[in-house]
Amino acid sequence: MENTIIKTRVVGVDISLERTTYAIVDIRGNIIASEHMETLTYGSSNEYVTTLCERIIELVSNNGGYDTIRSVGVSAPSANFITGCIENAPNLPWKGVIPLAALMRDQLGLAVGVANDAHATAQGERAYGSAHGMKDFIVLNLGFGVGSCFFSNGREHQGMSGNAGEFGHTCINEQGRACTCGKTGCLESYVSHRGIVLTAQEVMAESDKPSLMRSLERLSPRTIFECCEQGDELAIETYRRTGHVLGVALANYASVVNPEAIILAGGISQAGHWLLDPMKETFEKHVFGGIRGKTKIFASTLDNRTRDVLGASAVAWDVKEYSLFK
Ligand SMILES: [Zn+2]
Repeated sequence: MENTIIKTRVVGVDISLERTTYAIVDIRGNIIASEHMETLTYGSSNEYVTTLCERIIELVSNNGGYDTIRSVGVSAPSANFITGCIENAPNLPWKGVIPLAALMRDQLGLAVGVANDAHATAQGERAYGSAHGMKDFIVLNLGFGVGSCFFSNGREHQGMSGNAGEFGHTCINEQGRACTCGKTGCLESYVSHRGIVLTAQEVMAESDKPSLMRSLERLSPRTIFECCEQGDELAIETYRRTGHVLGVALANYASVVNPEAIILAGGISQAGHWLLDPMKETFEKHVFGGIRGKTKIFASTLDNRTRDVLGASAVAWDVKEYSLFK
């Protein structure tokens, strides 16, 4: 008789510089079991992948077994869903192109899909979060970089080579700041961790007003936000300028995509109204008239601590189930 076990679970793997988290997740987004390991202590990408697969097999064996697992989804920096590879990640020590999906598939005997972190976040929002049921939406991950992804007509827009939706590296000021990608004036050089710190330094240099920021040991989006909460004028101005730039950029993207919602994730989105109020004001001013007043803009509702691994698991539902005969 044919095996009729319905596979209602997937494995999600979130690879970040700090650590790798891997979890068994069910179809509703419940985490059944989760563990983590170091990412950067391995001599080569092969050694890392082998250890990761051994640990996944152990986790699965101890929690329901292989028969319940449909597929594996991986969220990793510079990962490309179409090629299944990590491609020249600037922040990882593994250089060149790493065929991560194929390496893992061969060791696990399961279908494996990979996506970059912003694409995984968008998949997670759609599968388990506030974008559930939406056909057109944009997700922006605001952190050390700006990751982004958009869904159109119910599908993630991949583009010809899997590089669609790089909103972070669209130019918003031709004469602007140098970006880490080698271009100038990218959105990322204003609304990332580094961008906000640079803006705070500019705001302080332009003014001789007192500011709590002047005596901070370390400027960061978090410490600048804390100064805002204490009513610090220059810190508020820093987030006002950041929100303004983001509002102009989002108005452009929304005018192209006409999304139902724009969802902000990542540490910087936690600045709340200090960022969102000036951003929304600028957005409504610059967006195409037919869209004005119709786009929901809000911070991600998924739990910060589990969003990334849930997003990775959502990628797994998007890959075909593995079979030797397909
Ligand atoms: Zn750039």
